[in-house]
Amino acid sequence: MRAGTKLPLTCQRCLGPVETDLEVDRWFRFVADEAAAEAQDDDCEEDLLALEPRPNLYEVLEDELLMALPLVPVHGICPVQWPMQARDPAVPDEEGSGRPNPFAVLQKLKK
Ligand SMILES: [Zn+2]
Repeated sequence: MRAGTKLPLTCQRCLGPVETDLEVDRWFRFVADEAAAEAQDDDCEEDLLALEPRPNLYEVLEDELLMALPLVPVHGICPVQWPMQARDPAVPDEEGSGRPNPFAVLQKLKK
């Protein structure tokens, strides 16, 4: 069984979104029921999946993906500045593009 997905996780360093690739590649051997699964559990590498009671494959897949999740998602290199970093007041505030920069307003008043 192979499943892949991308999850937008939160970077624990810069708190920005991290696109995290998740891929699960796993073999399941289907057996008749729980008893058969227990009987064969010792001598096989694959995970055994009993067909009776009928397994919910979505739940199985969800468990596998959850186990593949990184415990602490972080960027290799954070694409943005750390929010804790002190902002230089002389640098225009790009995030608040709707607001006029007070220094730019002063510049206009001088002319
Ligand atoms: Zn980051």
